[in-house]
Amino acid sequence: MSWEDSVRKVVPYVAGEQPKQKDVIKLNTNECPYPPAPAVAKLAENLDTDAFRLYPDPDTTPIVTALAEYYGVKKEQVFVGVGSDDVISMAFLTFFNNEKPILFPDVTYSFYDVWADLYHIPYKTVALKDDWSIDVEGFKQENGGVIFPNPNAPTGLYMDLEYVEEIIKANPDVVVMVDEAYIDFGGKSALPLLEKYDNLLVIQTFSKSRAMAGLRIGFCIGNEKLIKYLNDVKFSFNSYTMNRPSQALGAAAVQDDAYFKEITGKIIATREWTKKELTRLGFTFPDSKANFIFASHKSVPAADIFNYLRQQNIYVRYWNKDRINNSLRITIGTDSQMQLLIAALEAYLG
Ligand code: PMP
Repeated sequence: MSWEDSVRKVVPYVAGEQPKQKDVIKLNTNECPYPPAPAVAKLAENLDTDAFRLYPDPDTTPIVTALAEYYGVKKEQVFVGVGSDDVISMAFLTFFNNEKPILFPDVTYSFYDVWADLYHIPYKTVALKDDWSIDVEGFKQENGGVIFPNPNAPTGLYMDLEYVEEIIKANPDVVVMVDEAYIDFGGKSALPLLEKYDNLLVIQTFSKSRAMAGLRIGFCIGNEKLIKYLNDVKFSFNSYTMNRPSQALGAAAVQDDAYFKEITGKIIATREWTKKELTRLGFTFPDSKANFIFASHKSVPAADIFNYLRQQNIYVRYWNKDRINNSLRITIGTDSQMQLLIAALEAYLG
């Protein structure tokens, strides 16, 4: 017997690369190419650094209040965490606590199985259909909980709310989590369904549509009882998860709705232009409603294109994994970044 026998062993999630050099066109981690709202920069310049002596508000009141107002829900229905990764991780720990396997798609956000392993939660994956869509029927088997992103990652495919509701309706005895990290790029949020279902948790993030991945802000909205249970677990884990600047700056971002709509609108327009160009160059992809496109080329292997783009200092994401090893996930950048990407692909693919 050695101490190593009692180690909690996990195969960790591999995050996308954050290159050190500055001249990279970074289309590999679905960040926003535009800066956060102007009010965020203004407030950041005037941060009260003396207050850093003090612990932050454990209830994250500024940001919870701003989000409750923005989404028209009660403060008691909002939970904030350090990125939606933190929110989802806490939610797994809180709600997926029984012997039955939880369900999620086989091709999806690759952190779900890592958290399940970490917390010893049994899980089963539901295979996407051949057109990459989520198989709603597969989520009607007995289970200990459900999570899926909408739009799904890394496919970008959005599922109409009627199907989201069908999954929730089929699972009244477990918590159903809809991970809406990419919902602000053209999809409809499941938030209105909260009125009908007390077992629904809708999770969103400031990392993409609010251009604040570096501050690590995520949140979820659900029935008051769900949020209370979630807070009980959070306060048994770490009371002060979110730091002072993130709480203040996050609240400022929510208050500038015009800017939010402007940048998400720009990203949507750039995405639609990029789709046409990729099609012209011989790529196919599921029709994305996210800030990325999951593309494969009709004749050139994804791994070759990935390596070529990297040499050109254009970073996209590639996984050498079953089912997805011939696709590249390309984040939507600015118009000029996407023009450079297309020009580079054109030169390579001839
Ligand atoms: N869910 C999905 C589907 C994602 O792609 C990501 C981004 N990696 C996250 C959640 C987590 O994002 P964050 O922790 O930055 O909010």
